[in-house]
Amino acid sequence: MSSTTNGQQPLLSALGLSKYFPLETGLLASLRGDTSTVKAVESVTLDVYAGQTVAVVGESGSGKSTLGRLLLRLLEPSAGQALYQGADIFGMNRAEVRAFRRQAQIILQDPYASLNPRMRVGQIIREPLDIYGEGSKSERQKRVHELLERVGLNRNHERAFPSELSGGQRQRVGIAAALALSPRIIIADEPTSSLDVSVQAQTLNLLSDLQRDLGLTYVFITHDLSVVQHISDRVAVMYLGKIVEEAPTETLFTEPKHPYTQVLFSAIPLPDPSRRMNWDLPKGEPPSPLNPPSGCHFHPRCPAAMSACSHTVPRFQAVGRDHGVACLLHEPEGANT
Ligand code: SF4
Repeated sequence: MSSTTNGQQPLLSALGLSKYFPLETGLLASLRGDTSTVKAVESVTLDVYAGQTVAVVGESGSGKSTLGRLLLRLLEPSAGQALYQGADIFGMNRAEVRAFRRQAQIILQDPYASLNPRMRVGQIIREPLDIYGEGSKSERQKRVHELLERVGLNRNHERAFPSELSGGQRQRVGIAAALALSPRIIIADEPTSSLDVSVQAQTLNLLSDLQRDLGLTYVFITHDLSVVQHISDRVAVMYLGKIVEEAPTETLFTEPKHPYTQVLFSAIPLPDPSRRMNWDLPKGEPPSPLNPPSGCHFHPRCPAAMSACSHTVPRFQAVGRDHGVACLLHEPEGANT
């Protein structure tokens, strides 16, 4: 869905972005002519404006991490475009990609897995500066110290190995490394999921402070709707590769329209219990993207499913200001017959 912010151009956009992975690769598959694919991301359109946080929420297998990697050009799309300041990132030459990568960074879920265990903290944070040849050796060292302080660590941590730090400290190192080149946008992929609840809150506060102080833009990928309420401006809810609802955060939290979004709300504590839905989270794992259900992908789990839902694909359409939903319940009369 395309949202508007005072006629401003989005910093980053997805336009009909899709990513299909072949089920099987290699010689045997090509000899068999096996062209089956998993539609990990399907026709996603999303605008991210400078200084905002857009949360992408969905269960495992929803395609949210694949979308994040597409937006950083860490994967090539099967269809569609991603635009950074209006330029197609998939049409960039090497020099343009290098410049783009300075400005767009990623923070990963598991800092223990994402940090090189054989490198000391100082080296990890300095590595992007070394790769981009930023400043002199002493300037890079000074920048490492600034970044350590910026994320709430100190110079004593510089010589530590990741294994000597707590989970929260490791995530701070990941954040410092992502900040090293002064990016404009950060894709944060489940940045707090592996942390204890109290450490989660500290990390979210740190990310909010950094956004305020540095004017950062975030795409915040999470499976947990409850963590996005206080940090995001907009929320896009994904289900089996598609965005099924997108709205400003306050609208989504007060008027969720899609049954899947409503079901997600039934699992989190709300300040006003009268807004709680009486629908339980669908039991078990979501259907596999290898073999998604026909019609509306959510229909086997949907508490509001109608007969048309098993054979009609709902269109994503506006239901309010900057609020879109893909559900037959919200299509004009007669569209689902
Ligand atoms: Fe439920 Fe039907 Fe709407 Fe899908 S289209 S979310 S199955 S009511």
